Amino acid sequence: MRVVRTIADLRALLRPLREEGKRIGFVPTMGFLHEGHGALIRQSAARCDATVVSIFINPTQFGPREDLAGYPRDLERDQNLCLECGTTVLFLPEASEIYPTGFQTHIEPGRLAEPLCGRFRPGHFRGVATVVAKLFSIVQPDLAFFGQKDFQQTAVVRRMARDLNLPVDVVVVPTVREADGLALSSRNTYLDEDARRRSLSLSKGLLAAKAAFEQGERQAEALLALARGPLADVDSVQYLELVDTQNLEPIQGAVDRTSALCVAAYLGSTRLIDNVILTPPAGTA
Ligand code: AMP
Repeated sequence: MRVVRTIADLRALLRPLREEGKRIGFVPTMGFLHEGHGALIRQSAARCDATVVSIFINPTQFGPREDLAGYPRDLERDQNLCLECGTTVLFLPEASEIYPTGFQTHIEPGRLAEPLCGRFRPGHFRGVATVVAKLFSIVQPDLAFFGQKDFQQTAVVRRMARDLNLPVDVVVVPTVREADGLALSSRNTYLDEDARRRSLSLSKGLLAAKAAFEQGERQAEALLALARGPLADVDSVQYLELVDTQNLEPIQGAVDRTSALCVAAYLGSTRLIDNVILTPPAGTA
């Protein structure tokens, strides 16, 4: 595994691979890696000839009162996990490499960035779309791997790649969970013992709704009620919504298309998100 910090060094490493016709996979991350990131890297390593992982805590996707300064870091552990999962090149740019003085061009996502997290994190998806577009342009991957955990992010990134004709296939990898159901997240490290216990209410509700859906429950309100029940244990619920995965508009009445049941909640000052996808079996809608 090679570790590079500049765009020039990364491009110099990737150019001969591309010339040899190698398939390049890319996994963008903010570090403090866990087995969720590991699943993305492993899938890239299995499907591509070379896998680039970036670790970059992107300042433009954090709001002024969010956790940019305190975002957890552990570069040594990250390097070991990258190596173990089959990374070819680890890209560790400084903020000044990505946003040099004078930087002023941004990607403005459209309607998909407005609901759900977009309502509570103004500018977040503009920051995400901009950095992902830049990283795509720097790495020029054939495939890029994103986690289902950040469902709205996958929708915004897919739309952006399509709208801007970026020559990359966006692959979405299922959410990796702890044995008790909690979705792995770098931010789980903020949870104390009590908050960690109560954090289970997110996955408990979502998984109960998904189980009911699989048993035939189709009413949006009934599914939302199942997911809402356990949320009595969190400190505050930012949103709990059932949306169409194509346009992120709320589903009312019967769930007759692929939908995402999405939640964001606070445990103390830690904000967690999670979701499950509900797909009606073909021909039953
Ligand atoms: P982050 O470092 O949080 O920006 O995440 C980098 C990538 O890892 C994103 O595509 C996330 O969706 C993905 N990811 C984070 N947590 C998980 C998880 N529990 N399972 C699968 N992918 C994840």
